[in-house]
Amino acid sequence: MHAATKVISAGHAVTRDGEPFAAGPVFASAFRSAGEPAASPYVYGRYHSPTWSAWEAALEVLEGGPAVAFSSGMAAVTAVLATAVPPGATIVMPSDGYYAARRLAEGWFTERGLRVRTAPTGGGAQAEHLEGAALLWIESPTNPGLEVCDIRALVREARAHGAAVVVDNTTPTVLGQSPLALGADYSLASDTKSLTGHSDVVLGHVATRDAARAEALRTWRTTTGAIPGPMEVWLAHRSLATLELRLARSCANALAIARFLRTRSDVRGVRYPGLPDDPSHAIAAAQMHFFGPIVGFELPDRETADRFIAACTIVLPATSFGGMHSTAERRARWAGDAISEGFIRFSAGCEHEADLIADIADALDAAAAA
Ligand code: PLP
Repeated sequence: MHAATKVISAGHAVTRDGEPFAAGPVFASAFRSAGEPAASPYVYGRYHSPTWSAWEAALEVLEGGPAVAFSSGMAAVTAVLATAVPPGATIVMPSDGYYAARRLAEGWFTERGLRVRTAPTGGGAQAEHLEGAALLWIESPTNPGLEVCDIRALVREARAHGAAVVVDNTTPTVLGQSPLALGADYSLASDTKSLTGHSDVVLGHVATRDAARAEALRTWRTTTGAIPGPMEVWLAHRSLATLELRLARSCANALAIARFLRTRSDVRGVRYPGLPDDPSHAIAAAQMHFFGPIVGFELPDRETADRFIAACTIVLPATSFGGMHSTAERRARWAGDAISEGFIRFSAGCEHEADLIADIADALDAAAAA
């Protein structure tokens, strides 16, 4: 079955007449349960929920392994850092991946004994740092630089060193890239982004085929209470049916915008893994089904970048990415990434391509004219 078909009904078991195609959210902190807790399918809302069960069943269909839903992408990151390796272990992270994950590992976790090595994503440089490591953390394509690494090759290297592998798959989503099929032990994502795609929920999940690793993640979630709310999970599940449509449109828009930006003399450093001559393209094409909604580019300086964002009318000024609305952000307004002051992280939404390109062209003209 194709992904476009799977997303329509994944996690919804409709078997009897009179059943809705998609059940509504169940808001419950307590469920009727007499006697031994294990005798009831649902007992208490921090442990489990029918709404999570349906969502996790859908994610399992797409990921190819059991999934555990969390209250945010960072709750998912925390759960993997806390449960995947023993105390005092060494892990290898990307030096250019999502900065908050790196900060959490190098800060709070390092203060409690974790050893973190970092190396750039491009060129698979992380492979040089695996000696004695228990976990390799991959993010491909990276946020925000859109660097890509060969996941299969890095998994082979990690195996040779006895290290497990987690892929932060936020930028492509599971429809854009399948970490478990590429050999990773964990597929992790912030579902706040493209997976849910409407800029109205904060969520995350981790999928793993290893039953013990999955159980450790569930126990971590139950014990720490990093649980998603039923309404958020239900909204996510409701949005899933359009994931393939949204990705098809937003990724086509991203490619068209990247091509347009290449024609502008006032724009430098255009990056999009879907551009045939992008440094990431060959590897990305070998392991990705969609190249994602993010386009990176550089304007001459901070002032020009701020003027560009202010002059856009359809494209909204906002952080995050992967929503139906196109958004742009001068990324250096957050200190955390090694990028220039004029770097723009652009997220292509689902508007009409011609309207977006006209908006971007006008805003670039206005920014340059000031
Ligand atoms: N991983 C990546 C690659 C991200 O871009 C983000 C958020 O931007 C996260 C993890 C964290 O996700 P959340 O904001 O849902 O906690």
